[in-house]
Amino acid sequence: MNRITDKKSFEVPLYAYERSPDQDAATPACRKVVVIGAGPIGLAATIDPAQQGIEVVVLDDNDKVSFGSRAICFAKRPLDILDRLGCGHDMVEKGVEWDLGKVFFDSRKVYEFDHLPEGGHEFPAFINLQQYYFEKYLVNRVRALQAAGAPIELQGATQCCGSPTRVIMSTWLSAPPRANTSWKPTG
Ligand SMILES: Cc1cc2nc3c(=O)[nH]c(=O)nc-3n(C[C@H](O)[C@H](O)[C@H](O)COP(=O)(O)OP(=O)(O)OC[C@H]3O[C@@H](n4cnc5c(N)ncnc54)[C@H](O)[C@@H]3O)c2cc1C
Repeated sequence: MNRITDKKSFEVPLYAYERSPDQDAATPACRKVVVIGAGPIGLAATIDPAQQGIEVVVLDDNDKVSFGSRAICFAKRPLDILDRLGCGHDMVEKGVEWDLGKVFFDSRKVYEFDHLPEGGHEFPAFINLQQYYFEKYLVNRVRALQAAGAPIELQGATQCCGSPTRVIMSTWLSAPPRANTSWKPTG
């Protein structure tokens, strides 16, 4: 973990570069699923098949979750999906919940709308939460699945280019400074 001291006390999850045995293979390694980019979409696309026991390699050119001003509002539907991925309750516990929206003109309320007028729902209509927490909970979930034996490799500092059937991986932030391999997804 790496602390960004000027941003309160958020602990930045890291996924440092580690040399993969695939890089030393004589022929391109074949993987079921290769996900390029460990942003919210890439991490979600990693967790979903991994929960079904499907092998996933996820590669990101950075080595940590994103930081700064990014997504802030999360609606009920994504929270329901995140619950399936094992992160919904973490999000709701940390976020600011709201169901009711209000529109003001100066100090006068001109409109009000309720996104969740009925009871009995597990999650609120919306939460507000910084994107880096969202990504942190997804990375935590990846780590928990790995600890439970799920076949996930999360590789940071790895930039990819190539085609949908062949991924060329180049590493940086590592010594020696550049090494190449290719991963050929199967199926
Ligand atoms: C300044 C800013 C403000 C924003 N504000 C809001 C907001 O207020 N509300 C809102 O809903 N959304 C906001 N967004 C948008 C939101 O952040 C994105 O919709 C969200 O991050 C998209 O997720 P993603 O996983 O698709 O992509 P990203 O979060 O961009 O993740 C993609 C990942 O792939 C990696 N990558 C890219 N190319 C390669 C490659 N060739 N090889 C390896 N890795 C690669 C990147 O480093 C990155 O980690 C904002 C975005 C920005 C930039």
